[in-house]
Amino acid sequence: MDINVGVSARHIHLSREDVDKLFGEGYQLTPSRYLSIATQYIAKERITVRGPKGDLKNVAVIGPERPNTQVEVSKTDGFSIGLKPSIRLSGDIEGSESVTLVSPDKELLIPEGLIVAMRHIHMVVADAEKFGFQHKDFAMVVVKGSRSLVFDYVVVRVAEENTHTEIHLDTDEANTADLKTGDSVELLHVNDKKLRLEQIINMFDERQLTILEHSVNQIVVEEKQRLSAMEDILRTLRKK
Ligand SMILES: [Zn+2]
Repeated sequence: MDINVGVSARHIHLSREDVDKLFGEGYQLTPSRYLSIATQYIAKERITVRGPKGDLKNVAVIGPERPNTQVEVSKTDGFSIGLKPSIRLSGDIEGSESVTLVSPDKELLIPEGLIVAMRHIHMVVADAEKFGFQHKDFAMVVVKGSRSLVFDYVVVRVAEENTHTEIHLDTDEANTADLKTGDSVELLHVNDKKLRLEQIINMFDERQLTILEHSVNQIVVEEKQRLSAMEDILRTLRKK
């Protein structure tokens, strides 16, 4: 099944408390554009993400507010400001990197919340049932083209509110595979309980070994034939 690609650039989800701290008590974010998940929007407000070695300026804020502030960046973004964010499922921020958020007139150090979001597929319930996936299964996705590759360990998120099945990648992943939003990729209909990429690689190794074994056997057979032909010649010469 072909599914759509959505590339997520760096963005921030803010808690109500942190909106207050950055923009003032009771401040309301201003929606500027609604996203493919229709309850979410990009806010007009922008924030600077500050690390020990630099700033990521003009970072989008995604509304509405969430229970916890979460800053989603790529590995490259993280390194560029001197931080090493870990790869996490969205929402799993406990013990993740600390970072500073800067609004037009305030600065806020968040103790945790800077992550690289784990690649994932938002899946509609009907597709999950049809293709044998459950919430939090891992899927494999094949990308074709000059940067062809297989994305393994793509976590599946099945939810009633999903209107279409779509894979979300960060900018590093998208660039590695030369993908952009709106491209399509192939979802394999196997989940991690049935088959993993490592197993496929092992199967290939075995197949290659079998081919090698066959050709070595063939050489042995041919050499034996040549040897017995030479022995025949020798025997004939001796008889004369
Ligand atoms: Zn997503």
